[in-house]
Amino acid sequence: MNILKFGGTSVGSASGIRTLISILKEREQDDYPVVVLSAMSGVTNLLLAMAEKAQVAEEYTAELKEIEEKHFEVVRTLLPAAAQNPVFTKLKIYFNELEDVLQSVYHLKELSPQTKDLILSFGERCSAFMISHVAKQDFPDAQCVDGAELIKTDSNFGQAKVDTSLTELLIQDFYEANRAKLLFVTGFIASNTEGRTTTLGRGGSDFTAAIWGSALHAKEIEIWTDVDGMLTADPRIVEKAFSLPELSYTEAMELSYFGAKVIYPPTMTPAFLKKIPIVIKNTFNKDFKGTYIRHGVNTSTFPIKGISSIDEISILNLSGSGMVGKTGFSGRLFSLLSREQINVVLITQSSSEHSITFAVKPADALSALAIISKEFELELQAKKLEYPEVENGLAVLAIVGENMKHTPGMSGKLFHALGRNGVNVRAIAQGSSEYNISVILSKTDLSKAVNAVHEAFFENLKKTLHVFCLGTGNIGKTLFRQLLVQSPLLAQNNDLEVKVMGVSNTREMYLSKTAMNLADWENELSKNAEPADLASFVKQMKAMNLPNCVFVDNTASGNPVNFYQEILESSISLVTCNKIGNSAEYEQYAAFKNAARTYGVDFHYETNVGAGLPIIRTLKDLMLSGDNIFSIEAILSGTISFIFNNFKNDVLFHEIVKEAQDKGYTEPDPRDDLNGKDFMRKMLILARDAGYPLEEADVQLESMLPPACLAAASVADFYQELENNAAYFEDLKNKAAAENKVLRYIGKLEEGKVTINLQMVDDTHPFYMLSGSDNIISFTTDRYKDRPLVIKGPGAGAEVTAAGVFADIINVGKK
Ligand code: ADP
Ligand code: ASP
Ligand code: MG
Repeated sequence: MNILKFGGTSVGSASGIRTLISILKEREQDDYPVVVLSAMSGVTNLLLAMAEKAQVAEEYTAELKEIEEKHFEVVRTLLPAAAQNPVFTKLKIYFNELEDVLQSVYHLKELSPQTKDLILSFGERCSAFMISHVAKQDFPDAQCVDGAELIKTDSNFGQAKVDTSLTELLIQDFYEANRAKLLFVTGFIASNTEGRTTTLGRGGSDFTAAIWGSALHAKEIEIWTDVDGMLTADPRIVEKAFSLPELSYTEAMELSYFGAKVIYPPTMTPAFLKKIPIVIKNTFNKDFKGTYIRHGVNTSTFPIKGISSIDEISILNLSGSGMVGKTGFSGRLFSLLSREQINVVLITQSSSEHSITFAVKPADALSALAIISKEFELELQAKKLEYPEVENGLAVLAIVGENMKHTPGMSGKLFHALGRNGVNVRAIAQGSSEYNISVILSKTDLSKAVNAVHEAFFENLKKTLHVFCLGTGNIGKTLFRQLLVQSPLLAQNNDLEVKVMGVSNTREMYLSKTAMNLADWENELSKNAEPADLASFVKQMKAMNLPNCVFVDNTASGNPVNFYQEILESSISLVTCNKIGNSAEYEQYAAFKNAARTYGVDFHYETNVGAGLPIIRTLKDLMLSGDNIFSIEAILSGTISFIFNNFKNDVLFHEIVKEAQDKGYTEPDPRDDLNGKDFMRKMLILARDAGYPLEEADVQLESMLPPACLAAASVADFYQELENNAAYFEDLKNKAAAENKVLRYIGKLEEGKVTINLQMVDDTHPFYMLSGSDNIISFTTDRYKDRPLVIKGPGAGAEVTAAGVFADIINVGKK
């Protein structure tokens, strides 16, 4: 025989109740299960709200109407007209009784825990009665049972303690006398020795099911709800939470104790003692296996089973010299709290014994404070104890699993995930069982924290990066296209999902609640846009508080750079192709690096030098692996490279510059390339990455142009001057040709000095052979001494730059 408990979410609507009946019909008909029912979803909360309103003499009729209508709607939908009347009549009697009680509360302005329990009991009474009548159509043996009479408790209203032996006898006797019937039992409610209604605590219908299961030695206790069993995290917080096939009783207990609402923690005890498996199943996906909670579960491959959370908690901190070495202090404190029925969720004590921090529900915080102040009055007066303060707005996150015991590094993993996402941990507790580690954090960080930790522990799932992009020019556009094309492969081969959550250009911006559709981002942006405001963009991005966040700067403007520090300090990784940040003052460059390190995020700028070519990465890897850099030589301007690769034979210099411009290699103003400034910035960044704290002024930049060209006031003038100086350039070209050499504008870093100048090189030089607008860089190091390490390839253009940015984005979070 099985116990089937249907929760409020299952019986909350006519269609849910219809499914419930169909689940019963699929069972063997000769061995009826016992069905335990909750109130329809939302009803217990409405009853509570009415009670609290009545207590302060506020109107509650709207809620009463809502509850009535909720039930009447089911009766109208699921019962034929002829069968409706008796059910309506009985329900109305219940609602009248309820109203009488509420009236008394209203007049007396007094709501005792006893009266509150009586009011709450109407939810289960109504639903069990109504559903048993609906079931009668298919099961003439259906019978409604007021479970309150069979479960005997003490008088601790709101959270009554069950007298197990008496209860089991009552249930067994009742069942013996009624085993031919299909019983529909009210969950949640019980009664004390005087017959007054008590309740078993919110969510207590699960417990009712376990009590019946234990008394009747049920084969299984089935908890039917609205999700596919116990999931790895609260599905309302973690989209990727998945169903766990099995759990031990302890694991289920710990998960539910720390907030997994799907099952009420005390439910596990009777089942555990009688070794009865509990199965959590989904009414709305009834063929899914669900979760088994039982003895001897198989070991799973994951180090933890799940992550649970309590989203509202307060902490109290007690400290002072009076506690040091005083045996029995914490005993005194916690027995005091337990005497006053204050449930302590979590305790941590510093090893010096100088302070104890404990967490309670916010509703208990002030009474805890009051009784502590009273109990420890003398110590407080003598200043042996600091006056405790309550801290609100906190939450608890707990990781749970029996495997944790055997797996080292679990807390490291937990704190790494939290730290990387800028989540500040206020207190930590590890249960001595090592089945759980719980941390207290700010409520505002909870969702981000649970998601980040879930991702860290369940690596089989796709990792999600939340990306905010600045700049929708050539590079930005190309990046979106590449992301769109690549996303199925990233998901399949790299378990990676890149979600673009915000876009801004200089005119408009949009931050989206869900990932933007990259096939239609332009439309989405223009439809939802607000006027661009970088400060507000950054502020909103921070407020979204998403895990694994990346800010991408695809602009060439100085403005975004002003926000880099703030972004990194908000634990958001940064990817930029914008050189301005890293090539301004050294101090700023160092500050960015420092912030990234301190806040445990990534700062990737591969495309600052040589577009998508792996230059920055190679330099970093060489240095990290202990190589010594002797010198770096490079041609890092695609434009200048193109010019000298093609400045041959009869072509004149200004003609080839024009061609470079026409081909789109140059900046809109070709002087920006030819004056060597851009090249200088790249060399400066390389030198800094190689460990030299250089400033712009330290770079010896020799212009490749005569002074008159540099002084030109407009682009047209510039071309004129290039033409006027044709002889100068012809002279260079001929001289080189005569010596079988070519002209190359080369940057060099050696012994901490950077020089950039025009050189003539022969065919023994690695830079002799170069084509198109290629960049080339050679590293001469300890390991690459005789033959330098050379990287060569296209170093400019939207396609390769966007590809470099793309690579930087997907490298975020990789070690
Ligand atoms: P019922 O009405 O069936 O008793 P509850 O609302 O009490 O259902 O509990 C089910 C809900 O618990 C789910 O809808 C889900 O949102 C929530 N929940 C929180 N944490 C978890 C978890 N780890 N696994 C499954 N559900 C969870
Ligand atoms: N109806 C009760 C509650 O909402 C009991 C339950 O649903 O388990 O707390
Ligand atoms: Mg429940």
